[in-house]
Amino acid sequence: MTMPDTSRRGLLIILSSPSGAGKSTLARRLMAWDETLSFSVSATTRAPRPGEVDGKDYHFLDEARFKAMVRDGEMLEHAHVFGNFYGSPMGPVADAIEAGRDILFDIDWQGAQQIQKSALAPHVLSIFILPPSIAELRRRLESRAQDDAEVIAKRMQKSWDEISHWDGYDYVLVNDDLDATEAHLKTIVTAERMKASQQPALMDHVRTLQSEFEDSP
Ligand code: ADP
Ligand code: 5GP
Repeated sequence: MTMPDTSRRGLLIILSSPSGAGKSTLARRLMAWDETLSFSVSATTRAPRPGEVDGKDYHFLDEARFKAMVRDGEMLEHAHVFGNFYGSPMGPVADAIEAGRDILFDIDWQGAQQIQKSALAPHVLSIFILPPSIAELRRRLESRAQDDAEVIAKRMQKSWDEISHWDGYDYVLVNDDLDATEAHLKTIVTAERMKASQQPALMDHVRTLQSEFEDSP
């Protein structure tokens, strides 16, 4: 088991994009890169797709249970997307932050906005993924082969709505070449972790340097 890193604060890393631009693929690569990263498993009322595992990809809930969680203040954010409810449960987020671990969110612009307005805003790193073209976005949605034609058409229709919120994010990546986008994403995360505001232990280190400085001949 990886020990918590209390020398720095945990970041809330938000990835958003129109459906099909590649954020789940990039999220998986980021998770494989750093085993200390945790993933915020969203709750949803949509049906599982073939291969999706309850508790790993999503917590699949019925509408009554979902609404009860919202009512009881158990969701950090929630939104209605493609006719279903989606939300980020608060518990794992609080645990990760406490332990100095970063937590990754694959959520839409509505959820990103809610978290950016919350008390956790100072620790948010938000990244938007754009497709290289609309034709390529359609090709990716079709090649993913997870949704029927009607669902793909619905996702394409909604893609402009999502893209139009691109400028509410800290960073924007055009996901043309997947390996290049992955490399850029890792660079961004690495740099954000080094921000002075994310490293509370720096104060102690500087105090130590100061006393060493004063003691040195
Ligand atoms: P999202 O999570 O944004 O809906 P996915 O990560 O599921 O999108 O990606 C949609 C499809 O596009 C998947 O089949 C994925 O393998 C593919 N894909 C993702 N990024 C790229 C890329 N840069 N070039 C080509 N195909 C890609
Ligand atoms: P999908 O059904 O393809 O898994 O997700 C559809 C959309 O819902 C994606 O844009 C995804 O990022 C978003 N989404 C997934 N989980 C959440 C969540 O917890 N909150 C919000 N606001 N959006 C989510």
